[in-house]
Amino acid sequence: MKPTVAVIGGGPAGLMAAEILAGAGCAATVYERMPTVGRKLLMAGRGGLNVTHSEPREAFLSRYGEARDWLTPMLDAFPPSALRAWCASLGEETFVGSSGRVFPKSFKASPLLRAWLRRLVDLGVRIEARRRWHGWADIPADATVLALGGASWPRLGSDASWVDVLRARGVTMSPLRPANCGFEVEWSDHLRERFAGQPLKRIALTFGAQRVRGEAMITAHGLEGGAVYALSAALREAIQRDGRAVVSIDLLPDLDEADIRRRLSEPRGARSLSTILRRIGLSPAGVALLREAPLGSTPAEQAARIKSAPVIVVAARPIERAISTAGGIAREEVDATLMLKRVPGVFVAGEMLDWEAPTGGYLLQATFATAVAAAHGALAYLGRPVARPVYSWNN
Ligand SMILES: Cc1cc2nc3c(=O)[nH]c(=O)nc-3n(C[C@H](O)[C@H](O)[C@H](O)COP(=O)(O)OP(=O)(O)OC[C@H]3O[C@@H](n4cnc5c(N)ncnc54)[C@H](O)[C@@H]3O)c2cc1C
Repeated sequence: MKPTVAVIGGGPAGLMAAEILAGAGCAATVYERMPTVGRKLLMAGRGGLNVTHSEPREAFLSRYGEARDWLTPMLDAFPPSALRAWCASLGEETFVGSSGRVFPKSFKASPLLRAWLRRLVDLGVRIEARRRWHGWADIPADATVLALGGASWPRLGSDASWVDVLRARGVTMSPLRPANCGFEVEWSDHLRERFAGQPLKRIALTFGAQRVRGEAMITAHGLEGGAVYALSAALREAIQRDGRAVVSIDLLPDLDEADIRRRLSEPRGARSLSTILRRIGLSPAGVALLREAPLGSTPAEQAARIKSAPVIVVAARPIERAISTAGGIAREEVDATLMLKRVPGVFVAGEMLDWEAPTGGYLLQATFATAVAAAHGALAYLGRPVARPVYSWNN
């Protein structure tokens, strides 16, 4: 008789666990509350599915902050090269983009998911859609893998209803918080009405010791976008501590301050300051942002502000709109195989666990690596032999 394994949640973590378990001879069933699996993965593929990153091991591991040492053995066992090989095995070769991020050649998630689901069917994995998990009484199995996701984008399925079920079993967790999220800014009516929806391209944001080049988007609520997401963990913690945080925006990171000062000192003729600011490279949105506070009257003051325009952020945007979730099941609650210490035979994978990382492919990489670890843990628990291919970090 094949051992039965219930995999709860049909996101990337659950499907990867099911693939490994079925491949090792278990009868794996995925229970998914939505009508179809992988909805967040498909959403992630909308803007280009960034599956992992090509940077060297040390830099890669540092992206996980406090969870680094916890995740390291799992990422060593399933590093970016393994994920890329797995994508290729599904017919989706990957490539390294100019930023070092790794994408499938099609850039999308849908061909990968389609091929993956065909493989799962071939392996005998059963998928029971529209099955919401309410607790262990629901689904008997020899072992269980929980892969229920975090709390962001609940309309795609992950609504964190598991929190209460696990709390009732005494499992401790840190509160679920938005990660890779936008922030609220009390813009003037002028900026909000005229510039919401406009990007600030080629800027650099600084907060504390972190400086990030990239893009941000002015929204009716505040700021969104890649550069903001990269600072979001530090901003979120600072706001929690101090009630607000001041981000500094370098609106012209390719020009140095002396250069800008010199250009602002040139005779202007009849041209307005805004026209001059546009000429040296600021967008209309950049000029408006600069004018949210008095700009100063001398070229020196103005140049300094262009290189360091302060923006006060007062709150993180709600978790419903965040890319990912911080917090979750505490590392002390699971053993090295990701089995819940309080509930033997139950393993946990993916975003439910208490780790966070910036965008750049680090989220999916850790999601898959923890799924591999949980599936291997379940196999060991069931006394099944575990084949563990050894991967190097070199791609
Ligand atoms: C807009 C967006 C873009 C993103 N882009 C990227 C990217 O480019 N690169 C990257 O690395 N990451 C990206 N991510 C993050 C990435 O998608 C997630 O980290 C990843 O999907 C987490 O996988 P998971 O399996 O842990 O959880 P999920 O993908 O959330 O899957 C959990 C599954 O469990 C199901 N479920 C929940 N509760 C129950 C229940 N009670 N009973 C049954 N089923 C349940 C859910 O319906 C869901 O299908 C993006 C996220 C978003 C929102």
